[in-house]
Amino acid sequence: LAEDESVGSKLFTALQQDVVSELETRFAGVPCGFTAAPGRVNLIGEHIDYNDGFVLPMAIERYVVIAANRCEDPTRPFARIYSLDLDATIEIPLNAGPEPTLEGWGRYIEGVFSGFVARGTTIPPFDAVIGSNVPHGGGLSSSAALEVATATLLAEITGDALTKLEKALLCQRAEHVFAGVPCGIMDQYSSVFGEANQLMLIDCQSQDCELVPFDSSGVSVLITNSNVKHELTGGEYAERRSQCDRALAKIGIASWRDVSWEDVAAKQSELTDEEFRRARHVVTEIERTIKAADGFRNGRWEEVGTLMNASHDSLRDDFEVSCRELDVLVEIAIELGQEHGVIGSRMTGGGFGGSTVTLVEDAKVADVIAAIQQKYQEVTGLKCDCFASHPALGAHVIQTQP
Ligand code: ADP
Ligand code: MG
Repeated sequence: LAEDESVGSKLFTALQQDVVSELETRFAGVPCGFTAAPGRVNLIGEHIDYNDGFVLPMAIERYVVIAANRCEDPTRPFARIYSLDLDATIEIPLNAGPEPTLEGWGRYIEGVFSGFVARGTTIPPFDAVIGSNVPHGGGLSSSAALEVATATLLAEITGDALTKLEKALLCQRAEHVFAGVPCGIMDQYSSVFGEANQLMLIDCQSQDCELVPFDSSGVSVLITNSNVKHELTGGEYAERRSQCDRALAKIGIASWRDVSWEDVAAKQSELTDEEFRRARHVVTEIERTIKAADGFRNGRWEEVGTLMNASHDSLRDDFEVSCRELDVLVEIAIELGQEHGVIGSRMTGGGFGGSTVTLVEDAKVADVIAAIQQKYQEVTGLKCDCFASHPALGAHVIQTQP
């Protein structure tokens, strides 16, 4: 199974085994559908997917995995789903409506069910087990991985041949309406479209994607989970989104894509200080992302590193979505610097906690991890989790024994 090989992680194989054996013991079944969808890390282009910008994520070698078996009673009106991580079971109505009826993690799944129902697809009753090695709330988009794994499962067991883009949009809608997070397209798109050894330069206006080869020849992507999450409700995200919309309306141009730095400067007196700084982030981050994609393409690592560091500064000072722990992690990495193999570092994802992404020379990864973990604990009293990942394959069906 070439697909599974390209995932290249023992952890992933163990996860699959755990899920299948839980399905067997808990629901006395063998999988009739078995799918996986990855989390993602964004290398640059933050908070601009909902602003018609470009983003440069990759799917990571961390997956949400779901195995399902058909229920013996075809009239049962719900699916029963057990999460290994949470040791909890939920029942999802097969005819899920346009509004959430569940609380907590069930909402992500109910939102995906609702999307299929809205397409006119009939969902049969089934039992399923979910396992995951994407940290929850770590800024690596476990929520999108959960949605996309669910959608891939439903497509498999219903025969609904929705396109990849339809799947990503259906899952984005689930996140908007059922989880209440008005996210852009990046997270669900990355989880659906991920390819091994490729970054994705996503044009969030046209929703097209250009693959940028990254066979990590000599360079590793290091992900560090700060293990903090300061966001209270996810309301901070919606607030940033509406600040951007207000700033754009005052600038008087239809899309951020067409806004130049001169356009922002010309309207500075009409913008609040906050709106001005949000606008400055959006316009400069779009530019940095395009430059960085070109840098990745051509192995201009020093330039890529500088752009990543500048992205972090902009997110901290102008967009104000960083936090002390993320700043500490980035400062530690940048202080280690080229001498220790660090190319660049920044917060990744929505912010207020979660993870940082650092480009590191391959041979130095282990030393950099040790140094970051020690320093982070010294400064904050907290432990951080570090792992390197190659760009990974997106959502797929896992083949079981014939
Ligand atoms: P992130 O997407 O950055 O990981 P979110 O807060 O958006 O953080 O999503 C995390 C939520 O997704 C969890 O609190 C939980 O509700 C849900 N979730 C993720 N993975 C699982 C899982 N394996 N089982 C059940 N729920 C999960
Ligand atoms: Mg999320």
